[in-house]
Amino acid sequence: MMNVALNSLHARDITYQLHPYTNARRHEEVGPIIIDRGEGVYVYDDSGKQYIEAMAGLWSVAVGFGEKRLVDAAARQMAKLPYYHTFSGKAHEPSILLAERLVKMAPNGLSRVFFTNSGSEANDTVVKMVWYYNNAIGKPEKKKFISRISGYHGITIASGSLTGLPINQRGFDLPLPMMKHVGCPHHYRWSEPGETEEAFADRLAAELEAKILEEGPETVAAFIGEPVMGAGGVLVPPATYWEKVQEVCRRYDVLVVADEVINGFGRTGTKFACERFNIKPDILVISKQLTSSYQPLAAILFSDKIYQGIADQSAEIGSFGHGFTTSGHPVATAVAMENLDIIEERGLMENAAIVGEVLQAELRRFADHPLVGEVRGVGLIAAVELVADKATKAKFDPFGKVGAKFFQQGHEHGLIIRAIGDTIAFCPPLIITEEQIREVVSRFARTLKDIEDFVATEFPT
Ligand code: PMP
Repeated sequence: MMNVALNSLHARDITYQLHPYTNARRHEEVGPIIIDRGEGVYVYDDSGKQYIEAMAGLWSVAVGFGEKRLVDAAARQMAKLPYYHTFSGKAHEPSILLAERLVKMAPNGLSRVFFTNSGSEANDTVVKMVWYYNNAIGKPEKKKFISRISGYHGITIASGSLTGLPINQRGFDLPLPMMKHVGCPHHYRWSEPGETEEAFADRLAAELEAKILEEGPETVAAFIGEPVMGAGGVLVPPATYWEKVQEVCRRYDVLVVADEVINGFGRTGTKFACERFNIKPDILVISKQLTSSYQPLAAILFSDKIYQGIADQSAEIGSFGHGFTTSGHPVATAVAMENLDIIEERGLMENAAIVGEVLQAELRRFADHPLVGEVRGVGLIAAVELVADKATKAKFDPFGKVGAKFFQQGHEHGLIIRAIGDTIAFCPPLIITEEQIREVVSRFARTLKDIEDFVATEFPT
């Protein structure tokens, strides 16, 4: 164990907490980095060290840290009505106003909203809503979901089954048998030699169709995907992919679910990524930037057709028997309203499109670096994939060691990024300026320099 005073916060953290997404044994050795406060795009640890938060926390703090207006909005709502539920026909103003606002913003005429606390709960709820709907319309056997390898949809039993990453399933007895996975739309890693983006998209759409036919179209309820994948490595789909997979879904009466938990509210340079990729979802899932994660909140937006089926079924059974104590929580929904005001008043979605170009261009300057396999991204979400061999695209073996070192070494340079295997991800707050982007990139460059030495020592050729 680290040499830390027994009653220090570090020691108490090691003693009492099990951390999400953390190697618990390693944590016992190295302990936490305790983040104490934040201001704009910066956070500070308990020793006062400054970090530029190039991941906006967990892809989420759109308006940056320390936004007083959100604190005030929360305090006002806490003082007036700190809590009330939305069960049994009860309602309160903030959730009504937010539901109306989201419907007015939504793509494809989505017309109803259901609130949850997290993205995982939202995707779990999507599964249950679709099952309930298909029971209502007399298709009780139509229950399977199809998602993609490397997709991320959360960690509950159903959403963790939709997720296509081994770390979320290994050791947990997942996925559930009715959750199926198809190929990952990442051209750099998964295309055949010489295959164009369009031809790759054709192949993925054909694979989806073959999967639906193999399972039986009468058993396949929905296809779910992030327009741009986040936690799987910031994977931008090949040209024409979404048009083609949607066509297959429509052919077999398979609902299209767009998971915009990361993408929503300007992240990819348009309000919703559905607009950028011409996706016409039956169901849209949003969270994270909805409140800038100052409060836990997610929302499911869905079509009138689905609403009508659910409404009929609830009348038949006596109630829509689903919901959380804190569904549509008044403080969370009030904070979301204020957060959306800030995003609109300050033109933060437009800013993301403009400074996003700078981030993309600056990072692409590293494309020729010998350790860089691919630089990718769109808007204010990007990634640099590090590889052992640029020519063959060979990954480092062991995989993830270079990424983990990069993550740690970034801290030394006051940079917080995310390492996904050996891919370095960026997803800064939407308030970031061009100058701050150049600061992110310069800290990245300094870290990469250290990593060159690390690779030379640890992976001698
Ligand atoms: N969907 C996507 C696309 C996500 O990125 C995430 C979280 N990273 C989730 C769902 C799950 O959200 P939560 O962590 O709030 O459960």
